[in-house]
Amino acid sequence: MLRITCPHCGVRSLTEWVYGEILDPPDSSTELAFDRAFNHTNSPGVVTEAWFHAYGCRRWVTVRRDTTTDIFLS
Ligand SMILES: [Zn+2]
Repeated sequence: MLRITCPHCGVRSLTEWVYGEILDPPDSSTELAFDRAFNHTNSPGVVTEAWFHAYGCRRWVTVRRDTTTDIFLS
């Protein structure tokens, strides 16, 4: 089961979270930026994202995720 560590609540199941957006600087390629925004295409590698702890503290948290494994990094 995928889990995200909340700095306020601790390690919590992914089911408690709502995805926000990718916070990394946009790709210089217009085509890649379009895919990320509208097709939600993940480029392989580590991205920084905003997630909302909807069923917890109801705060936004910045996390890093490896898109090749979907593992959340601390
Ligand atoms: Zn929380």
